[in-house]
Amino acid sequence: MLLIASANGDVGMDAAWEILAAGGSALDAVEAATRLVEDNPADHTVGYGGYPNLLGEVELDASIMDGDTRRAGAVAALRGYRAAITVARKVMEELPHVLLAGEGAARFAAELGLQRENLLTPEAEAVYRDGLAGRLPKMFRDSRGSVVDAMLRRAAAITADPERAAGTVNVIAQDAAGRIASAVSTSGWAWKYPGRVGDSPIIGAGNYADSRYGAAACTGWGELALRGATARTVVLLLSRGVALEDACRVAFSDLFDLETNSARVIMSMVALDANGGFCALSTAPDREYVYRRAGMRAYERAPRLVVTG
Ligand code: ASP
Repeated sequence: MLLIASANGDVGMDAAWEILAAGGSALDAVEAATRLVEDNPADHTVGYGGYPNLLGEVELDASIMDGDTRRAGAVAALRGYRAAITVARKVMEELPHVLLAGEGAARFAAELGLQRENLLTPEAEAVYRDGLAGRLPKMFRDSRGSVVDAMLRRAAAITADPERAAGTVNVIAQDAAGRIASAVSTSGWAWKYPGRVGDSPIIGAGNYADSRYGAAACTGWGELALRGATARTVVLLLSRGVALEDACRVAFSDLFDLETNSARVIMSMVALDANGGFCALSTAPDREYVYRRAGMRAYERAPRLVVTG
């Protein structure tokens, strides 16, 4: 058994481990852990309390993959429902689809009986109205601090800085039966253009799992992971016999090929292989992750390997 997550997944580690220890499935474990992160209002990068888009609306992206069947479900730009990962799982289980976006995703969440609510907490709203963490000149905003409609395009270019206002939760588990599942959930890049969809709900970009080989999940500059098909790259390399850390490094080096300014390549990844190996990397020097495997009494926090090019 193995559980690995981005550092902000710590609030879900115990609940997920309990499921795994009781013989539960990797899929249940990653969903349960992710739900707790989505419920955490102090986390402004995921679910309830997430930072909003340029219009002040919280839009969630999430995906889940069952590595046993390689079935997957996802939602993009979901508004008004915090449990994005559960909606994603239900897309996988109840619909003949993989990805629902926007209005359709919200309609489906309502049909599931989930409670509609305002996901923008006063704390997150204050940061938004305060000029997007000080980045947006006054001319872009009206007297209430909202971004003026006609300025959205230019505002998106100015606020584009995933390092300052982004984050995501990644959770990957391998259960006692060897099944691997992965979950990714995010409120995306804060101050994004309305309707912007990142890598998190895109199977192959921000999330991929295959019980035969392993799984990988990303946080960081989603546009890069989208262009690099990053999570799938790692698992495909594993299937060709490449060692886990080497596979991750190849995927990262692909990203550095996509962006000539290496300082702009902001990416973190957690990954595991089917044989119990795991690794976590980041282009940033101070990033951590959390993990727990059989025999450990509690989860542990550890620094990620740093990749600089
Ligand atoms: N990857 C996420 C996105 O681009 C954000 C992040 O992980 O920082 O939406």
